[in-house]
Amino acid sequence: MLPHTKIVELFRSRGIKVTPQRVAVYSALTGLKHPCPEDVIGKVKETFPAISTATIYNSLDFLVQKNLIRKVNTADNRMCFDWDMSEHYHIYCADSRKILDFRDEELTRMIREYIGKKCISGFELTDIQLQLVGYMK
Ligand SMILES: [Zn+2]
Repeated sequence: MLPHTKIVELFRSRGIKVTPQRVAVYSALTGLKHPCPEDVIGKVKETFPAISTATIYNSLDFLVQKNLIRKVNTADNRMCFDWDMSEHYHIYCADSRKILDFRDEELTRMIREYIGKKCISGFELTDIQLQLVGYMK
């Protein structure tokens, strides 16, 4: 989990108003890997039992809007969150339903070059979201 001082620093650097609820939600997220909303709610309530579920959902939406976290939809339509905003892809195990991070600069370069060559009219590539679905042995 990221220390509170680092989270406050991050929020301030992005011009985000620091509230104890937002800090608690972001802090909980940083202690989890690709959690679903229920995981986040459980984790936040460990340290902040009085917080309402609606406030946690609102904070999650707010953090997504502010680009501090992102939503990840799994192949079987579960919604998870990712606080690691660095460029990476996901490997999804359809058996264990776990999401693993997968970093591959060569793949990113290949996709960007390929899409660049295709000259899709009026399209500018800004983000690549890729999920590889299969089974981990
Ligand atoms: Zn990830």
